[in-house]
Amino acid sequence: MGGAYHARMPLDRAMERLRERVREIDDLQAAASLMYWDQNTYLPRGGGVARGRHLATLERLSHERLVDPEVRRLLEGLSARADELAPLERDLVRVLGRDVERATRYPSSFMATVTEHAAASYDAWARAREADDYELVAPYLERTLELSRQYAGYFPEAAHLADPLIDAADEGMTVAELRPLFARLRDALVPLVAATAMAGPAAPALPVEADGEAGGEARQLQLTLRLAQVLGYDLERGRQDLAPHPFAIRMAHGDVRVTTRVDPGDLAEALFSTLHEVGHALYEQGLEPRLEGTPLASGVSAGVHESQSRLWENLVGRSRGFWRFALPLVQASFPELAHLDPERAYRAVNQVRRTLIRTEADEVTYNLHVIVRFDLELALLEGRLSVVDLPEAWCERYRRDLGVVPRGHADGVLQDVHWFSGLLGGAFQGYAIGNVLSAQFFAAASAALGDLETQFAAGSFEGLHAWLREHVYLHGRRRPPMALVKQVTGQSLTLEPYLDYLREKYADVAAAAVSP
Ligand code: ZN
Repeated sequence: MGGAYHARMPLDRAMERLRERVREIDDLQAAASLMYWDQNTYLPRGGGVARGRHLATLERLSHERLVDPEVRRLLEGLSARADELAPLERDLVRVLGRDVERATRYPSSFMATVTEHAAASYDAWARAREADDYELVAPYLERTLELSRQYAGYFPEAAHLADPLIDAADEGMTVAELRPLFARLRDALVPLVAATAMAGPAAPALPVEADGEAGGEARQLQLTLRLAQVLGYDLERGRQDLAPHPFAIRMAHGDVRVTTRVDPGDLAEALFSTLHEVGHALYEQGLEPRLEGTPLASGVSAGVHESQSRLWENLVGRSRGFWRFALPLVQASFPELAHLDPERAYRAVNQVRRTLIRTEADEVTYNLHVIVRFDLELALLEGRLSVVDLPEAWCERYRRDLGVVPRGHADGVLQDVHWFSGLLGGAFQGYAIGNVLSAQFFAAASAALGDLETQFAAGSFEGLHAWLREHVYLHGRRRPPMALVKQVTGQSLTLEPYLDYLREKYADVAAAAVSP
């Protein structure tokens, strides 16, 4: 065995062997995904610590198999003869090569340490949030910061400590590119919020009555699942469950699940969290089946993934056309909304408010929430901000950018799980990139397909779905994210389509709000 053996191995046998090896890694990752899904839906609280250990073991095994010497030898042999490979196999060798190269930077034990720490930190965060006590979780955040710097240390060529983590989620993106982009976005959004925000706290957008003992869940879940199917979500290969923090997750081509959250008094929560997660799920369900069992079978980046969830949630689900189609269905399930007409429903779900909670934010303020987090995590990594001073820095940025100040930690620095369930850096930029790209993809789809609003009003979403499947979903990770964006939209990541979309839409919404 050894290099010479593999050098003599016929190409197709080497490829077959490599596919066996990556399928085993895919199986381990599917097991981890199923455990994660369970952890966030049905796992009893008492199982949390053990689950952290289960996931850490799977993570370690998966990493060990990825950096295994045989995999590296096979990759080397196949890369050397890449021009003899079919296009799909060439892409597999290139993408796997990138994954292996990144994974060999750190020992298997490092990721297991991170996973186990993340589980303990998550647990502390949940208690801290309940008690509104930042000090309960601050030591865990210190340790997270330490581990994040250690991770960055494995990539000494990186220009910024956050770059390796950003690159892991959004290949090719760097702090040097994102910081000025987000600064321009912020400078454009602050005046737009000033021009469009309504005064006072948000009232329920779609107030409904709870279903008695079931907590109002049954009717809401039924309706949102029906709408998900209309958009193209395949229930033969999916299911919907409740989760406190909704997510979508793929176990296999035939098993892509969504979760949702219900507010018994406001249908908007379940509706838009479902449309969002269904957007993620349409992407994963739309991957080419023959990518199954390889690292190509996944959305290509955090930003491109989020562009799809935001596209279906906002550019579709918060459009006039959608509400012309959907309102009668909504009213059939919820007669208490009979007083709405499509125009009033459209305005109700597009209110701009200065609020504290990112996940409840409207389209105009949303990115300001994200940019606050992005800037603060860079400050922590750079050592310009200490963990102790983080809550105060958080409040100051909220006052400055959004004009509101948290009452406590739970609706301030402790509201999001990200900093308390993994490494620091690389988790938030994808949301802002996703919003920007959602408009870029939608503009490209509109140019190809004509007036999409008219199609939505007629209950037809298949044109848009098929276009996205053909241009984005099918390819999985076969092209690097920014190459895909350029190819599909004709431009690299650019703010203009997004800002045009927001300005046009919300000038109109604000004008309608003041007219009689
Ligand atoms: Zn998302």
